[in-house]
Amino acid sequence: MSQAVTESNLTVPSVHHWIGGKAVAGATARAGDVFDPSTGLVSARVPFASAAELNACVGTAKAAFKSWAATPPLRRARVLFAFRQLLERASDEVAAAISREHGKTLSDARGEVMRGLEVVEFACGIPDLIKGEFSENVGTGIDAFSLRQPLGVVAGITPFNFPAMVPLWMFPVALACGNTFILKPSERDPSASLVLARLLQESGLPDGVFNVLHGDKEAVDGLLNHPDIAAISFVGSTPVARHVHQQGTLNGKRVQALGGAKNHMVIMPDADVDDVVNALLGAAYGSAGERCMAISIAVMVGDASATDRLLEKLVPKVKALRVGSPFEGATEMGPLISREHRAKVCDYIQSGVSEGANLLVDGRVGYSDKPGGFYLGGSIFDNVKTDMKIYKEEIFGPVLGLVRTPDLETAIKLINAHPYANGTAIFTRSGAAARAFTAGIEVGMVGVNIPLPVPMPFYSFGGWRGSLFGDHHIYGHEGVRFYTRLKAVTQRWPRDVEQRAEFSMPTMK
Ligand code: NAD
Repeated sequence: MSQAVTESNLTVPSVHHWIGGKAVAGATARAGDVFDPSTGLVSARVPFASAAELNACVGTAKAAFKSWAATPPLRRARVLFAFRQLLERASDEVAAAISREHGKTLSDARGEVMRGLEVVEFACGIPDLIKGEFSENVGTGIDAFSLRQPLGVVAGITPFNFPAMVPLWMFPVALACGNTFILKPSERDPSASLVLARLLQESGLPDGVFNVLHGDKEAVDGLLNHPDIAAISFVGSTPVARHVHQQGTLNGKRVQALGGAKNHMVIMPDADVDDVVNALLGAAYGSAGERCMAISIAVMVGDASATDRLLEKLVPKVKALRVGSPFEGATEMGPLISREHRAKVCDYIQSGVSEGANLLVDGRVGYSDKPGGFYLGGSIFDNVKTDMKIYKEEIFGPVLGLVRTPDLETAIKLINAHPYANGTAIFTRSGAAARAFTAGIEVGMVGVNIPLPVPMPFYSFGGWRGSLFGDHHIYGHEGVRFYTRLKAVTQRWPRDVEQRAEFSMPTMK
């Protein structure tokens, strides 16, 4: 990192791009502040790439493509095996970089790295994953086979909330398939990506195969419009995901764009109350609710007595959540990502009150005038109605709403009508209820007595409706399909050359 001077005249380090295996300083004055959310102070400056920097980066990745694509899959896998070992060893360093800029607790950041590592482990199986099919003698003396070939230069555009895991959903599979990669990380927590880049180089990845380009909308639009980018993987909010999908596909690119979420957890009257309370605490308030799989709506099924029993245990625990520095071991919830985001979450809480929901715990109390970091306590609303803003929109903060429904059928209808459909869960002791739920629910990822059903790498990750634009889920077998093109070959090696031309459509004789 080089030094930069902020508007407040404080000298802070400047984050660099990573292009062609080297740290490259930003070439223009366009840059943004990176904050330490636990203090509210600027911790670094991040350069915003210009069109010229973007062109240079794409050119480097393009030049590296031919020889990386020709590298046998087993050798590509060996680089990933080495990377897996180095990443595990460096997990504390990566986790610290995440916590410093994102604000999530160190243990949560370590968990993020481990979930990303699983995708690397999946990608190490590329020699087997990329195998084609072969049919002998499809016609007399004719064989047919298929190949999966890399696309070229592919780009990943990622959100602030998982600065290591979401890039790791993308590049291990993309690189394993033989593509070269440009990562455009979130400008709000850009540093973890550079540790990953360094580790890849130490693993033996040739220079130029993996690059990091920092920036804002201008860099994203540059990638969407660049003729040498073959495919885009995007993860972020729904309006931007929609834009990325529209613009990218308009330019003939393959695009998978994962968007926002509003995840419901259905609680049946027979569910174990303590199990539900623990599940809700972790899933609604872990990472301060800034997870795309966070539970933000609890759908209470049945009469009021089950809800009363739940609230009796849940409310005091939400009030007692330990909010503090991500680096203190006892902390359960760190700060939010930014001052603006914190203000936005507070506005949502106010709108819930104005629209008549019953605010049982107000996370603003005790934090509204706290100087320094972007802290907020946990909030919980009862009697949330489906026409309220706090029900319809993604809040992306530590706010849980309770909706009451008479039966499971009504709960399923309610969830299926929501514009977001990323994840959902049911808590019950009834196999029949769980089965009816998993069959009838129109959501991409479903948990049964599991509040955060993030699929293992071999099952791929993705939502439905407004939570995913494109045809492919991310990582896993879907990732291999996304990052490769199918080619079908039909071949004949004749012993005797035929003496006459055939003008009608060839058929099996
Ligand atoms: P965001 O959409 O603001 O930013 C995501 C990326 O897009 C960043 O790299 C950013 O630089 C870029 N970007 C922002 N505005 C842009 C614009 N107008 N034009 C072009 N590019 C733009 O998202 P965020 O706030 O960083 O992340 C939180 C969001 O991501 C939430 O909505 C969350 O649900 C979602 N998310 C979804 C998943 C999933 O798997 N579906 C996973 C993680 C996060």
